[in-house]
Amino acid sequence: MGFLKELDQNDLASTGRELHAFAAELFPICRSITGDGIRRTLALIRDRIPLETVEVSTGTPVFDWTVPKEWNIRDAYIQGPDGKRVVDFQCCNLHVLNYSAPIHATMPLSELKPHLFTLPDKPEWIPYRTSYYRESWGFCLSHNRMLALQDGDYEVSIDSTLEDGRLTYGECYLPGRSTDEVLISCHACHPSLANDNLSGLAVATFLARLLSGRDLHYSYRFLFIPGTIGAITWLARNRESVGRVRHGLVLTCIGDAGGFHYKKSRRGDAEIDRAVAHVLRHQSEPSEVLEFSPYGYDERQYCSPGFNLPVGCLMRSVWGAFPEYHTSADNLDFIRPLPLAGSLHVCAAILDVLENNHRYCNQNPYCEPQLGRRNLYASTGGESIGDEISARLWVLNLSDGEHSLLDIAERSGLPFPAICDAAGLLSKNGLLSVVPDIAAPKGQ
Ligand SMILES: [Zn+2]
Repeated sequence: MGFLKELDQNDLASTGRELHAFAAELFPICRSITGDGIRRTLALIRDRIPLETVEVSTGTPVFDWTVPKEWNIRDAYIQGPDGKRVVDFQCCNLHVLNYSAPIHATMPLSELKPHLFTLPDKPEWIPYRTSYYRESWGFCLSHNRMLALQDGDYEVSIDSTLEDGRLTYGECYLPGRSTDEVLISCHACHPSLANDNLSGLAVATFLARLLSGRDLHYSYRFLFIPGTIGAITWLARNRESVGRVRHGLVLTCIGDAGGFHYKKSRRGDAEIDRAVAHVLRHQSEPSEVLEFSPYGYDERQYCSPGFNLPVGCLMRSVWGAFPEYHTSADNLDFIRPLPLAGSLHVCAAILDVLENNHRYCNQNPYCEPQLGRRNLYASTGGESIGDEISARLWVLNLSDGEHSLLDIAERSGLPFPAICDAAGLLSKNGLLSVVPDIAAPKGQ
């Protein structure tokens, strides 16, 4: 058992502070589904892990979609009749409707108002709005600020470009002994939003750093992509090889103080679904496993019927279900160091299950082997005497070449690490042998 133990050597609080500091570094960047914001974000990730950047030209067909024009923005503001800026992109990049076409014009308030977006229910917050696939322009502001606007002429300026260019995404590939892959995917297309976007980016980056340079069974592929169009583009470019994905996780909204939520893959009974459910059951925070639905983040694309990949989605608070979602209140105060570190730990524990989920054969299947003679009937100490012996007996009994260690953990009710440690000890004592080809293929 490797990854989680490695992390446990560090202090949870300091790991959390590091994760939060990384999110804070990424926070001010105005990201979108294309453009320099995502490029700058990927450059900061590349400072920490090996990352290949892929650029795909505007107009490239990707299944039923087309790679859009590239959007970049330098400045935007609304200047009131008194000459003062009432909305300023430099103060908060959420102020601009993401993907706004350029405009520089003067107009009366009545003409400006249809281009203003607010949240009447949360009058102090600025909403996050986009207009990716319909050319438009607009501003987002607090409802209170909008109510305070006086009649008169307003100068509106959006210094943006929307032109042929490229869509950019990042891919970090960590080769393991097997070419079978674990896919970890997160979206990198939201501007200054912390839980929705940055928490996933930070945790995925640290997870890749944890795995990098280690002896791995699986190969790992981390995708840092614009939501929807990025996943569609990646799938279109890798259509022939996605069958190598044995397990996958979309990471999003995993930095807030809420309990864990795991949305199962479309298959519902994939090994990743069982591994995550098992890990969540045996950790201390509240958690809930949700059935698959064809709405959400990029698991929608990975689980589209043509692919049906075993990819689920790990969250804390469920996207769309917390009031701060897609507003200026999803900020660096909304994500906290300890929940970020806790999410990294849960991810590490999930990967520990996948990496170690071997099947074994009991080398002494006719009645129990005499454990006492081998010093295996006494515990190595601690409070869990019963559990340690119990884990050994469960592993011996169910190691018939058919049951994986996760099967045994589920059936015994014991946590996977205890089952895995027992299997290691019994193997060392010649009582078990591992069955080759641990990753029994399921489906494609
Ligand atoms: Zn979002």
